[in-house]
Order: sequence, then C-alpha cells, then structure tokens
Amino acid sequence: MTDNLFTRILQANSDPDRVFLVSPGRAPLSYGDAFAASARYAHILARHDVKPGDRVAVQAEKSPEALVLYLACLRLGAIYLPLNTDYTPHELSYFAGDAEPAVFVCSPKSREKIAGFFPAERIVTLGDDGQSGTLVEEAREQPVQFDDAKLGMKDLAAILYTSGTTGRSKGAMLSHGNLFSNAQSLIHTWRYSASDVLLHALPIFHTHGLFVAGNCTMLSSARMIFLPKFNLDAMIAGLPEATVMMGVPTFYTRLLVDARLNKETTRNIRLFISGSAPLLAETHREWNARTGHAILERYGMTETNMNTSNPYDGARKPGSVGLALPGVEVRIADAEGKEVAQGEIGMIEVRGPNVFSGYWRMPDKSAAAFRPDGFFITGDLGTTDSEGYVSIVGRGNDMIISGGFNIYPKEIEGLIDALPGVGESAVVGLPHKDFGEGVTAFVVAKPGATVSEAGIVAALAGQLAKFKLPKRVIVLKELPRNTMGKVQKSLMRTEYKALYS
Ligand code: AMP
Repeated sequence: MTDNLFTRILQANSDPDRVFLVSPGRAPLSYGDAFAASARYAHILARHDVKPGDRVAVQAEKSPEALVLYLACLRLGAIYLPLNTDYTPHELSYFAGDAEPAVFVCSPKSREKIAGFFPAERIVTLGDDGQSGTLVEEAREQPVQFDDAKLGMKDLAAILYTSGTTGRSKGAMLSHGNLFSNAQSLIHTWRYSASDVLLHALPIFHTHGLFVAGNCTMLSSARMIFLPKFNLDAMIAGLPEATVMMGVPTFYTRLLVDARLNKETTRNIRLFISGSAPLLAETHREWNARTGHAILERYGMTETNMNTSNPYDGARKPGSVGLALPGVEVRIADAEGKEVAQGEIGMIEVRGPNVFSGYWRMPDKSAAAFRPDGFFITGDLGTTDSEGYVSIVGRGNDMIISGGFNIYPKEIEGLIDALPGVGESAVVGLPHKDFGEGVTAFVVAKPGATVSEAGIVAALAGQLAKFKLPKRVIVLKELPRNTMGKVQKSLMRTEYKALYS
C-alpha cells in the first residue's frame, strides 16, 4: 500500500470544491482545481523524462502555480528542490552541479542565464505571476488525472539547501515521513483545522512558508490568503479575513509601526505564530498590548522541520521557543553529547521522525552532524527552564571567546535592547590581538531616537562583568538581514574584521 505525504493530502481533501487559495487579483483556487493542475504539471515533468527520485530544481516567484508544482513533484515521486529567488546564476550553477536535477524550472526572464550552465532542452519556465511560461502553457493540453508514483514515507520528498553561513551550502534530504509527521504534530499542537484561514506572506522556497504553512494547511483542508510577498497594505487588508498568521519577527515589527494594526483588524485571528529568527520579548509585549494576542513562538530549522513550540493553551513565554513538540526529543548537551544540568547552556540536540536523514552527497558532513544515539546537533545553543521551556542563546559559532571567557551574545543583546532609545542590536566577536576576540555591539536606534556609543557603554557598565562589556558600539541604520529576517552576523564580522587591528 502506498502511504506518503501526497496520499495523505488527497485523503484530507475529499471535497474538491473547497477553496484552497485566495490570491489578490485571481479567482479562488479550489482543492479540486489544484489537484487537477498538479496532475497536468506532473505530465509535463514526466514528458521531460523526470522519474521518481529525480530532482526538480525550481527558482520561481511565489504564485499558486509554483505551489501546485510542489504537489506535482510529490505525486510524481520527484524530489522537489526549491531555490531562493535571490540566488544569482553563479550560485544556481553550484546547486545544479551538486543536485544534478533532471529539470530546472525558472522564470522566462532567467531562462537564458540558466541555459549558460544547464541544458536548455531541460529548462521549463513559469512566469512570475504563475500565468505564463512553458509549464502552464503546455499543461493546458494535459489530462487532469495522473498515475501517482507508489511511494512510502521513507522516500525523499525534497532537498532544501541550508543558507550556509560558513562554507558550501548543504542539501538537507527530507522524506515524506519527515514532512508528514511534523505537519501532524503542528496541526495537533496549534489546533489547526478546516475552519482556519492562514494569512500567508512568507516565501515558499523555505521550510517555514512551504512546509509549516503549506503542509499544515493542505493536510487540514484549510484555506490560505496567498500573498506574493509581505506588503503592509495587503497584510492589513488580509488580517480581518484570517484566523492564523505565520510570520518571521520582521512581519510583526513592521506591522506594529502601522496605526491600522489594532484589536479590530485582528478580531478574527485565533493564533499569531512567529519563527525562523528570534522574536524580541519587547515585540511580544507590544503586540500583546496592541492586539490582545500573545504571539506563539516556535523553533525549527531546514534539517529538522519544527522542534519546539510554545503551547496553545499554557503560558507563551516571551523570549522562549517553548516545549518539545509531540514525538520530538530535545536535549541540551555538552561537547560530548551528554545532557547538561537544567538551566545550563549547551548545544540543542534533537531526535525524532521530523529529523532529516543527512546532507545530499556529503556523507562526512552528515555523519558529523549526528551523535551515535541518533540525536542531530543543531548548532544552536540553548537552555531550558524548570518547566522544560527552551530558550535559544545563539548559534554555536556566534559564541564569543574573549580573554579566554565564553560570552553569549544574547545576554548582552538583551540588555542593550532594553535601554531607552534602542530598537535592536547584534553582538559579535571581532579579531582582537590581546583578547582573541573583542565584544562588539551593533545598535539600531528606535525611529526618532538617538543613541551613542558612550551612553550605551556607560549604561551597560553597571550590569555586565567587565569582560563582557562591548569594546566598541557601532550605531547602524539597520542590521543586515536575509529574506527570512535572520540577522547576518557573518556579514558584520567580514565588514568590520579589521576594527581592532
Ligand atoms: P533555517 O534552516 O533557515 O530555517 O534556519 C534555522 C535556524 O534559524 C535555527 O537553527 C535557529 O538558529 C534559527 N531560528 C529558527 N527559529 C528561531 C526562533 N524562534 N528563535 C531564534 N532562532 C530561531
């Protein structure tokens, strides 16, 4: 018997007339229409000789059709390989060389560039609005039925390349079972149901917008308001129609700046979820004061799907990413993988059906990422409180060693963020001839406020041990972030590497 993510999505949607996606300027797309279109796309891919286990690389702007293409890959048994729309041809040629996809789907305007490193006859195009390109044009002639591949939960569904702050980007291999089990866990934890309407403004090349949002919705037969990207006016217009919003922290901070965000606009929402980057405790509190809603923060990563979540019913603690999800084991470990005492800082390690099987064609890196007992070493440092709530302290490689002392940037960032006039901060270690690394703070002032290096250092002096005090405070207009709202500390380390020399 075949049992895979696609068969489960089909089973969850017995009513073909139920609305799946509502996108601005487009007619609503029903589940029945989405399945029919996915069959047509699967035929197009099969005509290009894509077979189960083959990779299909996709660099496409967000559109209903781009999401349907993911379904087409699932039912064909192809391994879906979504690529960040910001990637340049140089970066894309690395992914194509590494993953060796059978087909490359891209925007018609990128076709020529992709053909510079990929066989032109195996390029399929999809227009940025989803309504043009060879995929949709040729699909019109295709049947709306498809003989789905006979797959099990162990078969691979997708490869997602990690953003890779150091070294080459690695392809995380995710099975149907990894994706299905995680979606099930989240649906249960968040009480996700067919009556939900999700406001979706995340990109769909990343685990958050594609798997957390997409799979939870499709497996619940729920509906999405599917926006091409985050846009304040569109978000404010969509909020009253929605019951759930999933966002990165920057969605929340940008919405807070808009006076139209209030209890009235959010009256139908039952759950605000944040993840992919740390949500400031202050944002959590401001949001609560303005809308009456406590944002639920959760933690996950490309390799593992979601690991922890604040509870639906119990306390949603600001600054914490919550409790281990059902079926997921989370431990805080020392350098040998031994659990540390509660309250101590250590490496977050996870094990469960959500965790990927390894990195594509990188057996050594895959082996090094797991403990002998099967726990995956996330690279995130964290701690748990007496109730089991996990807090992330930072990435392991963000830890600063200055004068032989270990310093966790999060502690210093928390104090700086609480100072009057400070909007946000990022603390990094920069090469320093005396100390090895010098603690350096990058600070952004709140709109209309001014902050100074001397003022910040003076304010911190009473609160922090001397070795933790920033040696320099640099005031910036904004912190460098990637599309998922993650602060790019590696860029700051590179740009300011000679600060102390
Ligand atoms: P990605 O693989 O791009 O999803 O990035 C995963 C990383 O994002 C994790 O390893 C964490 O460092 C970070 N991350 C995800 N969710 C959170 C969160 N709620 N708070 C802090 N960091 C997070």
